[in-house]
Amino acid sequence: MNKMNFNDLNFVPFVSVDHMMKIILELGVENILTGIAGYIEEDFKRWELFDKTPRVASHSAEGVIELMPTSDGQVYGFKYVNGHPKNTKDGLQTVTAFGVLSDVNTGYPVLLSEMTILTALRTAAMSALVAKHLMPKNSQTMAMIGNGAQSEFQALAFKAIAGISKLRLYDIDPSATDRCAKNLAGLGFDIVKCNSEQMSVEGADIITTVTADKQYATILTDNMVGSSVHINAIGGDCPGKTELHRDILLRSKIFVEYPPQTRIEGEIQQLDKDYPVTELWQVMKGDIVGRDNDKQITLFDSVGFAIEDFSALRFIRDQLEKTGQYQNLDMLADPDDPRDLFGMVLRAAEPQSAKEA
Ligand code: NAD
Repeated sequence: MNKMNFNDLNFVPFVSVDHMMKIILELGVENILTGIAGYIEEDFKRWELFDKTPRVASHSAEGVIELMPTSDGQVYGFKYVNGHPKNTKDGLQTVTAFGVLSDVNTGYPVLLSEMTILTALRTAAMSALVAKHLMPKNSQTMAMIGNGAQSEFQALAFKAIAGISKLRLYDIDPSATDRCAKNLAGLGFDIVKCNSEQMSVEGADIITTVTADKQYATILTDNMVGSSVHINAIGGDCPGKTELHRDILLRSKIFVEYPPQTRIEGEIQQLDKDYPVTELWQVMKGDIVGRDNDKQITLFDSVGFAIEDFSALRFIRDQLEKTGQYQNLDMLADPDDPRDLFGMVLRAAEPQSAKEA
């Protein structure tokens, strides 16, 4: 399953932001979203094989920096990611990330990649994959509240994977909605720009909340959500940061990635520690039913789990041979005698002629 040996193991393929953009343009964003969703589903179906742990988070007044590790026994991966909602005011991204895959047998890294763009791709792919399993039949319309960096990726994933063609956009900052609508123009959507949360959810089969604010926010109140809806709640993803009123949770069937992490970080931090939730890997495997009936409200309480990043990195690595979009980094010391590391440093000081003699 994992192609590990296409290059010299002494060099580590590095996918820069520029490479990632070229991969997207070469393969097509919707193909990539569909491809990553396929890798995520494959990995969720072999859930029991993975090492799993809630991410390791370092919180500060303005944000959080997190490490997200996992391994399937053959390959190890981790992502470094931050979340700083105030950053956009200074012209910086709310979320930036990079990640690594390593060969478990040698411990050698086999991929280093930018993951700011890849996180947006994998988050969107996961959202749409989950919606495909849970949304009401014949869903066409999605409300999207929060039209920032993640939003176009979310929209395109829902089109490619869940067949959504109608968007109702709302952001407290109208310029964000204008930008999102402009970027998505001509990409096959029927778009309505809305001037309130209430207006955006009217007639929506799916409601995506993807706002950024480090607080217990109430983007959706109970009266805004009718029956026969799927909620894709993306923005409540760390302690003290939620988007939905608690009453909506009590009316919904709640689906999560990895309960020990979601109970700390997700919307369900507002509920009792043992409140029943359904694990998505069991739905994807077909062991547990997803939506019980047409009228139900289903809720994906998304926080983002390490296996999704692992899948996304695995997908990108499998595109490198074909696209050539990477550079080899001289990241691993390679002395002729593995124990003569210091000798290698000394020899670096010798003139070239002496080394060749
Ligand atoms: P961003 O800062 O680029 O965009 C957020 C948008 O939300 C902004 O346009 C802002 O104006 C808008 N907003 C804030 N409060 C609002 C409100 N009350 N009503 C309507 N709009 C509001 O951030 P982003 O990169 O798009 O990320 C959005 C959120 O998604 C963040 O909270 C981030 O942490 C989260 N996220 C989650 C995952 C996951 O896997 N669950 C992955 C990536 C990002």
